[in-house]
Amino acid sequence: MLLIDTHVHLNFDSFSDDLDAVRDRWRRAGVDRLIHSCVEPSEFGAMQAIADRCPELFLAVGLHPLSAEQWTEAMGDEIEQLAQSDDRVVAIGETGLDFFKTEDRSRQFAAFERQLEIAHTLDKPVIIHCRAAACEMVQVLHNVRERLRGLPRCVMHCWAGTADEVKAFVELDFFVSFSGIVTFKTAEAVRESVAIVPSDRLLIETDCPFLAPVPHRGKRNEPAFVRSVAERVAEIRGLSLEELAHQTTQNALHCFKLPQSSSLPICS
Ligand SMILES: [Zn+2]
Repeated sequence: MLLIDTHVHLNFDSFSDDLDAVRDRWRRAGVDRLIHSCVEPSEFGAMQAIADRCPELFLAVGLHPLSAEQWTEAMGDEIEQLAQSDDRVVAIGETGLDFFKTEDRSRQFAAFERQLEIAHTLDKPVIIHCRAAACEMVQVLHNVRERLRGLPRCVMHCWAGTADEVKAFVELDFFVSFSGIVTFKTAEAVRESVAIVPSDRLLIETDCPFLAPVPHRGKRNEPAFVRSVAERVAEIRGLSLEELAHQTTQNALHCFKLPQSSSLPICS
């Protein structure tokens, strides 16, 4: 059984001491490919260095909406150039809108729209972060779709909104990725979303080092724990773990256009 963790941040300090042990555990858990997200382009060199050590790692490049104060037009060009500089880049992001605690919306809109354009031009998916902004996001996507006559493949990462909101994203043909939040006691609304995403649009992730699933909640999260996410999602959808692993792995291969066969040994 193989799993793909579609959203990790391994360059953060919390992994600097024991990445080899963390990697051993993800391999034993059956995680044979991972997508490394990017909060700001300055991280890209560190991400490449980790991918040099771990060939199962694929990369995204982009600017997170909570770092939007850094946004300039030149940064858009930098993201586009970095995305073309390394074959391991399979996505743009993470980008999106986060109005939970923010005053400055205009830079978030500018950065998001430009990154959607880059993803569309390069035919790569865009990894989207959306918090307290679902309405505005749907609006932006409709506008951009009109302007570009299409949208890039969109991945809603770490979905934690309502089932009604997720329906609007499913209508826009989104992939929807679920994290350890699905295992939290209070996350009934998120489990409703898990139940309604089409089978060919479902993805799983850890968003590590954040959001460790039950029974690891409160600890540092790591890619091996994506198995707990898979187990809970499988249970909600009435599938075996193997069926769910197969489905989400195929979806990730298709969405990120990952190479079909991994050179890594297959874990049990
Ligand atoms: Zn992230």
